[in-house]
Amino acid sequence: MRIYLDYNATSPPLPEVIQAMARVLADVPGNASSVHAFGQAAKAVIDDARSEVAALIGAEPTEVVFTGGGTEADNLALRGAADALEPTGRRHLVTTGIEHEAVLNTVKVLERRGWRATVLSTGASGVLSADALRNVITPETGIVSVMHANNEVGTIQPIAELAAIARAAGALFHADAVQSVGKIPVSVKTLGADMVALSAHKFGGPKGVGALWIRRGVRLQPQQTGGRHERSRRAGTENVPGIAGMGVAARYATASLGDADRIGPLRDRLEREILARVPGTALNGDPASRVPNTTNISFDGIEAESLLIALDLEGVAVSTGSACSSGTLEPSHVLRAMNLPSPRARNSLRFSLGRATTEAEIDFVVEVLPTLAHRLRQIGRSAVAVR
Ligand code: PLP
Repeated sequence: MRIYLDYNATSPPLPEVIQAMARVLADVPGNASSVHAFGQAAKAVIDDARSEVAALIGAEPTEVVFTGGGTEADNLALRGAADALEPTGRRHLVTTGIEHEAVLNTVKVLERRGWRATVLSTGASGVLSADALRNVITPETGIVSVMHANNEVGTIQPIAELAAIARAAGALFHADAVQSVGKIPVSVKTLGADMVALSAHKFGGPKGVGALWIRRGVRLQPQQTGGRHERSRRAGTENVPGIAGMGVAARYATASLGDADRIGPLRDRLEREILARVPGTALNGDPASRVPNTTNISFDGIEAESLLIALDLEGVAVSTGSACSSGTLEPSHVLRAMNLPSPRARNSLRFSLGRATTEAEIDFVVEVLPTLAHRLRQIGRSAVAVR
């Protein structure tokens, strides 16, 4: 049995997405910028997809810019806004320590070119308080960037409240919604942000395609120069099959948000059973304000990578930290930014469920996990004794 519980790393593409992409690759060979019928057919595919993506987040299609994924969308938001803001003298940026590297490393680049960055801690709950932002925002603040849902612990940030604080101070607000879109309803109107990043492969679409929603009237400097694609906001011949795939995934995500009613209880059962059956376990992050598919649990005295490998040998795929940093034994930067002690940050596993997760899979995991954890603790103890 192969059990995939790593949907936050990526979600396998929907069969309908694969079919649509294959059809577009085979039947729509034109360049969307061409005037002839081939070009117009490609343009129509992109227009349809743009409408589907806009509908998923309650936006206007003209406000959606397709990118090469979530990382590029975050880069375009932060670098594009920074370029546009620099002449105004506002060079202070506020973000959180639990953001994805796509944001954190872009902020570091901005710091190297003279921006001042305030990186807020969320505390152990993994949820940023509005007061934490209020206390640091100044008339120099140009950008506030806070993710909607966290990729490791799943916590949901109070974006509407935070965005209102930014707006009152005259700063732009960017929300990385890569991990919330497709898992919970996301409406750009309710969020009140100025820019929102999303990524197709997190909700059943293809990898390497994403979008940045940019509120009408917000000025961003394009980061890729070239032709006038995407209304001159992102140059380069469009990835028509990928965009088509994202459109289909968006349509299914809009229709299947109700699946959260099935996934939430499955996640809750997985979590409850692990916490009850495996001694020395604890839940990381706020249990209430989080997406329904994610749980992050620490296992006292067990190196998370060892447990990940032991589970993998049983056919169960989970993750430690974010996918981008797996393979290293660095404790998760998210858990550290939540002020969890280093050993706990090193002992934590993320389980993220998705549309194909079944009751039987959860049964299997809660059955094997206590034995694996026990065995690893025994090995750990005998290793210490040998030393
Ligand atoms: N932002 C968050 C919160 C993510 O979880 C990820 C991917 O894991 C990204 C951004 C990057 O998205 P992409 O993989 O499409 O570049």
